Amino acid sequence: MPLDAAHDIAERNRSRYGLRMYRMRALGLGLGGLCVAAVLYEHTASTGLWLLLAFNALAWPHLAYLRVLQAKKEPLQAEFQNLTFDAAKGGFWIAAMHFDALPSVLLAVMLTMDKVIIGGARFGLRTLAAMALTCVAASAAWGFAFEPYTSYPVVLACLPFLAIYPMAIGVATHALSRKARQQKELLEKMARFDAATGLMNRQQWLYAATMELQRFQRTGRPAVLVLIDIDRFKDINDGYGHTIGDAVVEDFARLLKACLRDTDTGGRYGGDEFGIVMPDTRWEEAIVAAERLRRQVAAFSFTRAALPCTVSIGLSEPHAGIATVSDWINSADSALYRAKAKGRDCIVVGC
Ligand code: GH3
Ligand code: MG
Repeated sequence: MPLDAAHDIAERNRSRYGLRMYRMRALGLGLGGLCVAAVLYEHTASTGLWLLLAFNALAWPHLAYLRVLQAKKEPLQAEFQNLTFDAAKGGFWIAAMHFDALPSVLLAVMLTMDKVIIGGARFGLRTLAAMALTCVAASAAWGFAFEPYTSYPVVLACLPFLAIYPMAIGVATHALSRKARQQKELLEKMARFDAATGLMNRQQWLYAATMELQRFQRTGRPAVLVLIDIDRFKDINDGYGHTIGDAVVEDFARLLKACLRDTDTGGRYGGDEFGIVMPDTRWEEAIVAAERLRRQVAAFSFTRAALPCTVSIGLSEPHAGIATVSDWINSADSALYRAKAKGRDCIVVGC
């Protein structure tokens, strides 16, 4: 994947993450603000507290989002600072509500739950400590009373927060875990397949060859390992450039895939060298398939430049002298070497 594209995807993921956090913060602070407002109303709180609450519920979510957008280099760090600030503010509101039982517990639990989901248990504990510290400091500074009782109107004002916020967290968490699963699948695919051709990469293909050899050693069922190398590929690169060379590789991989049976395993062994593991196949049968591929390649007009191109092919069947997959590869490779020595565009069976 080109670097620009990878950068674009990272940028898009980051802004989506920021937007998701913005929505959750706006919802949480809005619903939490309703609980606090009910208590402040009962206490006939000062204008200062009302203004602070309005700032917290209505203005802060937008400012927090702007902070993350502006922190281009460290957006995650800015978000974690925002989250810590959210928790600390929660501590202040608990004190300002005179520790009114239900909204205080609700604020403490919700504010810690989302921190644990986002940053893990340790981050949750750290923000809980920030909350407790602000709570104690605010009580000491303003002399807030300790009245841990809840009136019925406050219970009612807490219900939307209690009902809606956990649901929203559940939906957001599910979306994140689905995304993580998709990315894991993509990474697993990238680790197994060659990005340019879509064929198995060397490591995965060697694993398939090892499994096939072990099956032969266990059961004696025949198999053939085929190595194919593009002829004079350096000349294509030197004559037409590496981009055309890359296109030849992709075209060849397409031809190779079209020739594979369902049971065959094709892979890119490296550079301009490819391999096929053919289970339940004798060399006489493998040579028919290899010859078909060789002919198709020789007749094909590669790339938009309609280049001619040929391949040399080496085959090997396992036998008692082949103990490991390296022996099997070496046997096919020396057959391939002989095909090159014979003048290329031909097939040689190894012994
Ligand atoms: P031979 O007939 O003996 O195989 O000659 P050759 O020119 O094909 O030589 P060789 O197989 O040793 O070298 C292949 C060259 O292909 C080496 C490497 O620079 C180039 N190459 C390997 N992979 C790629 C690729 O994905 N794209 C391009 N453009 N070039 C590649
Ligand atoms: Mg070559």
